[in-house]
Amino acid sequence: PRPSIDPPKITKTLCPYCGVGCGLEIVETVAPPHANFADRFKVRGDRAHPSSQGMVCVKGATIAESIQKDRLLHPMMRDRLDAEFRQVSWNEALEAIVDRIQQVLTTKGADALCMYGSGQFQTEDYYIAQKLFKGCLGTNNFDANSRLCMSSAVSGYVKSFGADGPPCCYEDLDMTDCLFAIGTNTAECHPIIFNRFRRHHKKNPQVKLVVVDPRRTQTAEVADLHLAIQPGTDIDLLNGIAHLLVLWGKCDRDFIENHTTGFAEFSDIIQIYEPEFVARRCGINIDDLYLAAKYWADSPRVLSIWSMGVNQSTQGTAKVQCIINLHLLTAQIGKAGSGPFSLTGQPNAMGGREAGGLANLLPGYRFVANPEHRSELEKFWGLPSGQISDRIGRTAWDMICGLEADEVGLLWIAATNPAVSFPDLERTKKALRRSPFTIYQDVYDPIETSNYAHILLPATQWSEKTGTMTNSERCVTLCQAFHPPLGEARDDWAIFAEVGRRLGFADKFDFQTSAEVHSEFVQITRDRPCDMTGISHAKLADMGAIQWQAPEQNPEGDRLHNKRLYGDLQFHTPDRKARFGAYHAQGVFEAADEQFPFILTTGRLYGHWHTQTRTGRIDKIRQMHPHPFIEIHPQDAEKFNINAGDLVEVRSRRGASKFPAMLTERISRGVLFVPMHWGALWAENAEANALTHAEADPDSKQPELKACAVAISLAR
Ligand code: SF4
Repeated sequence: PRPSIDPPKITKTLCPYCGVGCGLEIVETVAPPHANFADRFKVRGDRAHPSSQGMVCVKGATIAESIQKDRLLHPMMRDRLDAEFRQVSWNEALEAIVDRIQQVLTTKGADALCMYGSGQFQTEDYYIAQKLFKGCLGTNNFDANSRLCMSSAVSGYVKSFGADGPPCCYEDLDMTDCLFAIGTNTAECHPIIFNRFRRHHKKNPQVKLVVVDPRRTQTAEVADLHLAIQPGTDIDLLNGIAHLLVLWGKCDRDFIENHTTGFAEFSDIIQIYEPEFVARRCGINIDDLYLAAKYWADSPRVLSIWSMGVNQSTQGTAKVQCIINLHLLTAQIGKAGSGPFSLTGQPNAMGGREAGGLANLLPGYRFVANPEHRSELEKFWGLPSGQISDRIGRTAWDMICGLEADEVGLLWIAATNPAVSFPDLERTKKALRRSPFTIYQDVYDPIETSNYAHILLPATQWSEKTGTMTNSERCVTLCQAFHPPLGEARDDWAIFAEVGRRLGFADKFDFQTSAEVHSEFVQITRDRPCDMTGISHAKLADMGAIQWQAPEQNPEGDRLHNKRLYGDLQFHTPDRKARFGAYHAQGVFEAADEQFPFILTTGRLYGHWHTQTRTGRIDKIRQMHPHPFIEIHPQDAEKFNINAGDLVEVRSRRGASKFPAMLTERISRGVLFVPMHWGALWAENAEANALTHAEADPDSKQPELKACAVAISLAR
């Protein structure tokens, strides 16, 4: 008889890179002797996952290579930033943290405690961090890197619809007649979403793709219409399209009358956005403006997508509302193939929103500013009335300002790398150096931010922890561990819970597993816009990913019933109507001038992920994108005697960096582009954010990382 061969073990999980949220299958194989530990695991797309249908991009396909490399394996401590780290036990590290928290509470108060977390967290990590900081400790000083990524989308949705939550789903990409992509290089940054639309686009020549971007990106390359607007003129364009739709009588008057408010003020505002004026402001051909409006007007189903090109702006919230305005004008919402659809950057930015993981939010799509919401949570958590502070917490940049003013006694950073990703990096680094006590909790070492830490805590990563993540289309997936933690790494939620227990809140953190954490968390969403009381770890393991809303009585979630929010045209405002937002365009915060004659814009490349903490350790991706560069229009380069490959010094009011020149007509004259991925660990003096500024949108507090004024010269 033949020897029996055990079938390979297959674990289903989620790609931990971007907000597309592709399902993965990990196939555990018998690796040859002496092979790397990571060679045991083969990654492939999960064909049964509804969001990605078996597709993965290069990041997902190569991720196994990073499982074992450069891992932080043990807690480490030092007294001063100029001292060497020494390995310590978990007990010693946790005691030091608890002592410090108690000392800060006594001397400076709870608002001197800050935590800066990440969309790399699973929802369970987010939830326990909120319970510890906002509940037990009584400070709302928890913010996350989502602040730099999509907080303008949150505030735009809330202002227009009364609640956060992208109303659309990926199936809309397969059904739309016109995809209006503004401020998003989807082909490179959300490649599987783009693949999905491209299948539909190629099959149906009548389907239009309109791309609005100052660069001719890979997304723009295949567009039916590319509007290369000047940075900061998005609102001019959006109001200009609205002007034409109204002029041509292409609005849905019944919808506006019955389901919206604020139309009168909006129509007053858009009157001045006449085509000649808009085309001049945006730097585009007037015929292209007419064509964009025509595509919108003539398409039965219009879907708009956007990401950081819209959100990272001092008018980010206004831009989001101006996109939504077009949908309200034409009733392009709540039906298949249409609607406003923000794409999230981080894999679990959406889960962070559900768990209240920003300084102005509370779990279950609640707000710090709402007394009823605070009271509901206090009751749920068994806390005294008034325990949750009514003060909105410090946002990401406010934490830097707090360090500068010596108002922060403890800064806890987890799963993110602000020493590369924050704006105005020199100021950021100087502030981080002032911190009296910084805990850095992450997976890898070295990372740029660990240089500013007093304590390093090793966290488990995606391959070692089980928990949930929600992608851009509100689809919740169970990520399942497929090997034990390396070294002494612990789950983020378990670290927060242990600190909570040691601080005297044992009854609040009595969890043995992340499934128990999740089951408490979903109860807090009952009857809220993101109701997911019908979801549990067991159900996700059994049924696969589930899209919310998924209340207890409908555990299958939206996917089997109503896939889109607002199908009933009942919005979350008090009068159940959506609101128009009326805004004039203000341009970029820092305009080009004689001293700094260029606008620098920043962005991402296909293979790399954010600050390269993971992709920088993967050979194939490093070969694909070996070094940083700056894109310059050839005519601009000629004026400064710059040839392809020359090292160019770029200066702003805040700092300077150097990049090899790439001469290309992809970029407009007067505009430069630099990818944001390179920090001090991966290249010398090539940090994009040494140049950017921290001015932010007044509502969302999201900094304008996409535009600043710079000067260039040949580097000496
Ligand atoms: Fe991962 Fe995003 Fe690539 Fe999908 S598109 S494999 S989620 S990085």
